[in-house]
Amino acid sequence: MTVDPAVFLDRDNTIIANDGDLGDPSLVRLLDGVPAALKVLRDAGFRLVVVTNQGGVARGRYTEAAVDAVHRRIAELVDQATGLERTIERFYYCPFHPEGVVPEYTREHPWRKPQPGMIVQAAADMDLDLTKSFLIGDAPRDTEAGRRAGIRTVLLTRDADRIARAHADFVAGDFAEAAAIVMRKRHEPFVPHDIARTESRQTAATRRVRLRTRDEGAERIRKAVLELADELRSERNRRRESSPIRFVATALVLASLLTATFAFLNLADLQSFARWGSAAVLALLLAIVALLVDRR
Ligand SMILES: [Mg+2]
Repeated sequence: MTVDPAVFLDRDNTIIANDGDLGDPSLVRLLDGVPAALKVLRDAGFRLVVVTNQGGVARGRYTEAAVDAVHRRIAELVDQATGLERTIERFYYCPFHPEGVVPEYTREHPWRKPQPGMIVQAAADMDLDLTKSFLIGDAPRDTEAGRRAGIRTVLLTRDADRIARAHADFVAGDFAEAAAIVMRKRHEPFVPHDIARTESRQTAATRRVRLRTRDEGAERIRKAVLELADELRSERNRRRESSPIRFVATALVLASLLTATFAFLNLADLQSFARWGSAAVLALLLAIVALLVDRR
């Protein structure tokens, strides 16, 4: 039993241009650089499998026979360009759609992306090693199907919104770039695309932010301590120069303390307490005013 790596390929706007319902094989047009990049992947030992949603069958736009004809044409064009036989080994497609008009195709189906059914089926049919496989697709549902199948995914787009929605492992601007990413990453150990990896990325980012915050906090504290030391030093210098106002202020503070003590001793007699208390507050205020004057 051979167990090979594969590259799963979305079809429309990944390997061929198609913005509408394509049922006519004569309209098949390969996208730039696709055959050359497919040859590189094949030469590296990847088996190539198309996995495509063809809900147009359920919608009555074209038949399964038309889908097959389009696929034969794609295979023919690719083989002509690469000079290989069966460059793309198999085409899996899902003709079902829950909002179809053709009753026998109108339903949800495990093959319909973002579900991973086609990838899982191909892996079983062709003895593929999913841990060494990749998916290239232009839509978030493609990379989601790949993610659910446990393979690495390359999103083919330049659209920021798609990139944000897709959670792909890699993003490429065109097919050649996507193939180059696969070639570069193919020997890297497989890490399942699961929540753990996303979490570890988030944890690392959070740690970086925390470290930065901690550094900034330490720097602020260091500055504050230095400023306080400066302040104390200049305060000490000022104290050395004794002034009469400072003497008065000290006397006032002492008087304030004394009157406050009297106030508390007379706590039982509210009137005396108020009198002594007011005197204490007044003395303290005067002391503060004196110190402010002295500072000037
Ligand atoms: Mg597509």
